[in-house]
Amino acid sequence: MKLNQPVNTIKGIGDELENDLNSLGIHTIKDMLEYFPYRYEDNELSNLEDVKHGDSVTLEGQVQNTPNVRYYGGKKSKLTARILVGRILINAVIFNRAFLKKSLTPGKTVTISGKWDQHRMTVTVDNIELSSFSNDRAIKPIYSLKEGIYQKQFRRFIESALLIGIDDMEELLPGFIQKKYKLYSKREAIQAIHFPKNHTQLKQARRRIVYEELLLFQLKMQALRKFERENSKGTAKQFSHEELKKMVGLLPFELTVSQHNVLKEILTDLRSPYRMNRLLQGDVGSGKTVIAAITLYAAVLAGYQGALMVPTEILAEQHMESLQQLLASHNISIALLTSSVKGKRREDILSRLKAGDIQIIVGTHSLIQEDVNFHHLGLVITDEQHRFGVNQRRALKSKGLSPDVLFMTATPIPRTLAITAFGDMDISAITELPAGRKPIETYWVKDSMLERVYGFLNKEIAAGRQAYVICPLIEESDKLDVQNVIDVHEEIVHHFPDFKVGLMHGRLTNEEKETVMRQFSENNIQILVSTTVVEVGVNVPNASLMIIYDAERFGLAQLHQLRGRVGRGSSQSYCILIANPKSEEGKERMRVMTETNDGFLLSEKDLKIRGPGDFFGQKQSGIPQFKVADLVHDYRALEVARDDAKQFIESESFWTEPAFEKLRHYLSNEEFIKGEKLD
Ligand code: ADP
Ligand code: MG
Repeated sequence: MKLNQPVNTIKGIGDELENDLNSLGIHTIKDMLEYFPYRYEDNELSNLEDVKHGDSVTLEGQVQNTPNVRYYGGKKSKLTARILVGRILINAVIFNRAFLKKSLTPGKTVTISGKWDQHRMTVTVDNIELSSFSNDRAIKPIYSLKEGIYQKQFRRFIESALLIGIDDMEELLPGFIQKKYKLYSKREAIQAIHFPKNHTQLKQARRRIVYEELLLFQLKMQALRKFERENSKGTAKQFSHEELKKMVGLLPFELTVSQHNVLKEILTDLRSPYRMNRLLQGDVGSGKTVIAAITLYAAVLAGYQGALMVPTEILAEQHMESLQQLLASHNISIALLTSSVKGKRREDILSRLKAGDIQIIVGTHSLIQEDVNFHHLGLVITDEQHRFGVNQRRALKSKGLSPDVLFMTATPIPRTLAITAFGDMDISAITELPAGRKPIETYWVKDSMLERVYGFLNKEIAAGRQAYVICPLIEESDKLDVQNVIDVHEEIVHHFPDFKVGLMHGRLTNEEKETVMRQFSENNIQILVSTTVVEVGVNVPNASLMIIYDAERFGLAQLHQLRGRVGRGSSQSYCILIANPKSEEGKERMRVMTETNDGFLLSEKDLKIRGPGDFFGQKQSGIPQFKVADLVHDYRALEVARDDAKQFIESESFWTEPAFEKLRHYLSNEEFIKGEKLD
């Protein structure tokens, strides 16, 4: 196979260049061909009548005079020539290339590129060719290279690699797929992604490569899912529907249509012999807790134990309370297990858990680790956690457990990311809030308006309501972070002598945090100054005002989470963002926050502004790097690829017919399918 030849079979590549190319990950001809441009330079001629001041332009014209050269500051020079472009006379200014003067004779045709100054009718030239504009290679590929390799040179290598290897390039996609979507063949696509003759070609080449990239990724995900299902002998849980209906009937409110829908999906999973692996998304306040309660109750009715895991102790306590309320009229033993439950009480809980006397346990992630043993664990629900970590699954497995798993998250994950990062999971979403909620009004102010913000704060608490004041986490500096929140606290105490002002940050012990939180929820504290530790989950319906300092330091998703702490009661709630963002991006984020309360819309915007890599933070993401596909712009293609992959994997013919052989071969080279991968 010529594709596997080392790159040094290309003329002009010696040891040194080969090393350089290797360090870019290019070892073979195939690597070379699959090293795609990261952008293109468009060399179309500009039309002087359309261009605006400051535009980059490419113009062809005739030199009108003998250029004028001025020297200054030693070797520096400025060459000015008059050029006739069509019927318009312009100036071309070229710095530090005085030697060009002798080539620029009157009448000579040149092509110049550079920046257009409308007022002076002048181009500051970056590039000049002493010939008329040439149309072939109008679109120039630009590669991401390192020092020592030049674009021009690299393009020549690509040309050679194409000559050597393109005919060996394998077609992975079945013919019917190519026809169905009118896709370029692999060879056409590779040729055109490097050297498109025009924009249509470039678009088609991209389209084909994006589809393939996303399809392969989705095939992996879907195969993984199938594999997981077949290997996860979950248990079909039998529970009385009547009993469950009774419980739902006793709730203090009607479920929303959306809550009903997700519940149906979840209960179907519970009843099926497969292991549930489901993500439940729902905006802040959409009512996920009650869904968790019903699901846990169903598992208990079926004779199993259920666990609800959350990231913080405060949240664990709140969930404990909610569950006790929601399940009050049913005879169920619920227990709370956090690291502050110690000694005899802990031992007692552990032994009752092991004996099966405790039916529902609520706690932090330590729940499923260490010395905790279950009698008959059938369901694990995690809240406010993006993913069930590898370690946790392993911990469960090591205990011989494979419970149904439901992940609940209020970080509205854009569909594209959900499909990518959670493609091996089923997804349910609560898409509406319970009726009667008043949208939170959000304002963005500069910090010069702090006095007015205080005025507003005063008005709200004087009316009997409560407020959060949030200060940002300053990364890598726990100390600064705490100092910041302490300073703000002092200032607010000073400003509001008639009210109780609480302080909360990550340096407090759990007991201290808990005390502060309790005081706030009992209205013994009216203003709570805090870092983002209040971010997840907590519920104080009387709080109607959220003030966020240095709001530009937060991402949209986080701002939305914080804002979700208010708007939980009956009074109109407000969120005030204090921010002086320097970047356009920061300003955009503030604007978006004031414009919408819709978490999904916000997260789509966040994704657009920040890009997929930053969305979850680096570690959690599990989002692959694609060469060409872009999760923001190619989401339609992603959906199509996902649906196709699903259909393939589930079909008989995919596993038998020759048309799919290449794809099967691709999959069989992937580790997971051989058995061991997944945690
Ligand atoms: P989240 O999805 O953010 O976890 P919660 O489960 O905390 O939301 O619910 C927020 C509030 O809405 C709670 O006080 C809860 O009792 C209430 N709630 C949940 N579902 C409904 C509903 N269908 N109708 C009215 N209120 C509801
Ligand atoms: Mg919640």
